[in-house]
Amino acid sequence: MKRTRLLTHLWEFQNDYGYISNSAIKELSQKLRVSKIEIEGVISFYHFFHRQPTGKYIIYLNNSIISEFKGFEQVKAAFEKETACTFGEYNKNPLFTLFKTSCIGLSDQEPAALINFHPFTDLTPKRVQKIIKQLKSGIPVEEIKSKYESKIRYTPAPDKTVIYRDYEIGKSLKNLKSAERILDLITKSKLTGRGGAFFSTAKKWQYCKETKSEKKIVICNADEGEPGTFKDKSLINHYPGLLLEGMIIAAHVTGAKTGFIYLRAEYKYLVNKLKNTIDEFNNKGLLGTNILGIKNFDFSIQIQLGAGSYVCGEEKALIESLEGNRGIPRLQKYFPTVNGYLGYSTIVNNVETFIKAARTLELGIKYISKIGTENSKGTKILSISGDVAKPGIYEIEWGITVRELLKLCEALSPNYIQISGPSGECINKSEFDRRICDEDLICGGSIMVFNKSRSILQIQENFMKFFKMESCGICTPCRAGNQILHEKIKKLKRGLGSQQDLDEIKEWSKIIKLSSRCGLGKTSSNSITMSIDKFKDYYNLLISPTLENQNVEFDMEAAIFDYDYLIKETQN
Ligand code: SF4
Repeated sequence: MKRTRLLTHLWEFQNDYGYISNSAIKELSQKLRVSKIEIEGVISFYHFFHRQPTGKYIIYLNNSIISEFKGFEQVKAAFEKETACTFGEYNKNPLFTLFKTSCIGLSDQEPAALINFHPFTDLTPKRVQKIIKQLKSGIPVEEIKSKYESKIRYTPAPDKTVIYRDYEIGKSLKNLKSAERILDLITKSKLTGRGGAFFSTAKKWQYCKETKSEKKIVICNADEGEPGTFKDKSLINHYPGLLLEGMIIAAHVTGAKTGFIYLRAEYKYLVNKLKNTIDEFNNKGLLGTNILGIKNFDFSIQIQLGAGSYVCGEEKALIESLEGNRGIPRLQKYFPTVNGYLGYSTIVNNVETFIKAARTLELGIKYISKIGTENSKGTKILSISGDVAKPGIYEIEWGITVRELLKLCEALSPNYIQISGPSGECINKSEFDRRICDEDLICGGSIMVFNKSRSILQIQENFMKFFKMESCGICTPCRAGNQILHEKIKKLKRGLGSQQDLDEIKEWSKIIKLSSRCGLGKTSSNSITMSIDKFKDYYNLLISPTLENQNVEFDMEAAIFDYDYLIKETQN
């Protein structure tokens, strides 16, 4: 038994018994030669491992902001009523245990839940009643699960579509060239990491290629945890083969013989699809030894399931997790290409990045270069959700304006748009002519649209609760700072906020950004600070002293949840 397989072994116990018992920990401790305390530490780090018995069905209801606006509270109440259980408690009910969880990659079909990791979408109290009745009557959960696939709503004209087009197994690999020529091609295509960091893919591969290391490792980061993002789920579902081809190309360039797909637990239902595709590739000689008949071109891919931790989407945290540890991000000085998985030179790329690399080889640089902008070549896959008539997956040409995008998805009175998830940027109406591309508004993949009736403060509170929950806690400014920001938001919500509170939010934000180790702390306050600057009228009304002095019945809760009410009351 290898220490690096700790997460897998913990999953095995959890799957068999519904929780991880003392005897399981003792057994693992002896077999892996790891202390029981250390194993306890790993278990406690991940949301989906349990140390207490659970019911036969574990229900995780998503509490993202999109879910909140689409009926989370009513659905939650229905689950509690129908199961006679309480969320977050180990009720000792033999059938059900209920938990809330962060975004599960189904934002276009909210409210949504996972029941024993099978997706259930578009939930209503009535549907919950029916599902629970079916489960109680013994119908297997696999038979009543919902469709999870997001609708593909838009692709550019056929001569400009890069990703969502016909797939033929091994087509990109037919164009496999020398490592130098591939690097040249990827450089010219200006491909950057599509997980949100936008670091040059060619540079990353080149660093790994040039680093002296006994082994090289290729990792696919399929831990798509940014709330509002579900594009990688769609890509894995439609193009698992293309993903493998991208990884094989990276292995060819870097000399890696080992590859991992680190898949978020919320996408456990995609494991079989990936496994079957890996088997198919092995059978066709596209994985294994002497791939494509090239001597010593050996490469294999394993799947590692995560266990519920947003911060593991950060590459250095992901590597820790893959080694069987708590997913705490390593210090900045550890570059994966120099000192990555088990100390070997490692590249970590996102699902979309590998797929785009494979399409670049298949379609050629001439094709890719005619699409997009000067700095952003080709297309980008977006997940769009919120107050739109057509939520789903959009493949857009880089350079599209926000206004054009809102028209495509038929946004309903858009007022506040969150770009790239809670850690990204929010924009207001005056910015709708901004272009989505490297030259202007860069986007990792999530677009959440909110209309004027949505409370900006409720959005911010939801985001801050998320960051508080997901902070690994190793840096005090992130651990305590996000708590302080949450308290400030709650104060504003109670109608007790002042200009000083808004100023202090910005001051705290600077401290957290400057002194946090990883992207979570560096971006957790983006949305709240930007919204204060970009929605000044909204915040001015919330802290307006005239409201405090008015001798009128003022419904602060209504004001928080209804922008129009707030304006009307203030004008009266
Ligand atoms: Fe952990 Fe936050 Fe520090 Fe990142 S910034 S390492 S999440 S405490």
